[in-house]
Amino acid sequence: MSDDWRKLLSRSILHPGDLPTTLISDADRLAGVIGAFPMKVNPYVLSVIQGAGDPIARQVLPHPDELADADRSLDPLAEECQSPAPQVIHRYPHRVVLLVSDQCAVHCRFCMRKRRVAGGGQVSSEAVHQGLQYIRERSDINEVILSGGDPLMLGDRSLIAILKAVRAIAHIRVLRIHTRMPSVLPQRVTPSLAGQLAAFQPLYINIHFNHPAELTPAAISACRRLADAGIALGSQTVLLKGINDTPEVLHRLLDTLLANRVRPYYIHQVDPVPGTSHFRVPLNEGLRIMNALRGKLSGLAMPHFMVDLPGGGGKTALLPECVEERGHPQWRIRNWQGELFKYPCH
Ligand SMILES: *Cc1c(COP(=O)(O)O)cnc(C)c1O
Ligand code: SF4
Repeated sequence: MSDDWRKLLSRSILHPGDLPTTLISDADRLAGVIGAFPMKVNPYVLSVIQGAGDPIARQVLPHPDELADADRSLDPLAEECQSPAPQVIHRYPHRVVLLVSDQCAVHCRFCMRKRRVAGGGQVSSEAVHQGLQYIRERSDINEVILSGGDPLMLGDRSLIAILKAVRAIAHIRVLRIHTRMPSVLPQRVTPSLAGQLAAFQPLYINIHFNHPAELTPAAISACRRLADAGIALGSQTVLLKGINDTPEVLHRLLDTLLANRVRPYYIHQVDPVPGTSHFRVPLNEGLRIMNALRGKLSGLAMPHFMVDLPGGGGKTALLPECVEERGHPQWRIRNWQGELFKYPCH
């Protein structure tokens, strides 16, 4: 039972020619595409795909459009320049990302860390130890975000050992894990894993979900196991053209996440890595969608719309302009329906 996820992973499809013929017509044409970024589709994700071109298929099946922007930088956010120690990205005060795995249960075609995920090698425990040592020596850091790849690709023992090492650092208060497992291999979230994670509070888990079709009974159960273990869950969503770029689809996704105790956190603009141009939604359109969600969606389910600025500028939230005029003594401010109101400026 507890090893089911490993068996599923070992049966992942890596060659387009091994996919059902209904899903891919011209596998030979995709050699260049998977040469640039390998394909990986595990049997669980395959079972969620309803047909070619559906919202799950488009996220994980290679497509010739990926070759249109092959000359882009693989690291537009300059993460490697902001890496003061192996596996560490230190961009903001007080918190760091610790990359504990370069592997994932599926390869998302729009992945912003494909430079690491593509290799799919093991991160050496020596490199993780060096990253931990950096965190130990910097008493101004108080939050560690385990990311990758997917941290839950590690076995329970390795993952728990890393969490213990981080928890043993006195100046670290908050732990965070960024994972896509509940949506792409929910079998990974075993009751035993959830129980072991419960020992590391305060622990927050942010889960990558892009479309309501990912919220299968299995995915919902995985979230429930984590929430029942007392872990606060958030979601991160990538805004993807033709997949979730309508208020209706996002409303269904975010509303269902909230109802399953996952609090929507961020919606990300696709980062400009190679192979992603065809997924990018114009910023104006993104703001229009966010505006259409505001008011109709519970405030609890309303994420921030984030762009990660190039060259390591960091993430920033884009907001629709609601301040129409900064007058004195009154400002003119728009509500979610576009109506103007006067509001005293102090
Ligand atoms: C996104 C990110 C974080 C976390 O940012 P939050 O806004 O706190 O979620 C931390 N470090 C790096 C390098 C990041 O890219
Ligand atoms: S799960 Fe995340 S890190 Fe892994 S391929 Fe998808 S987007 Fe990239």
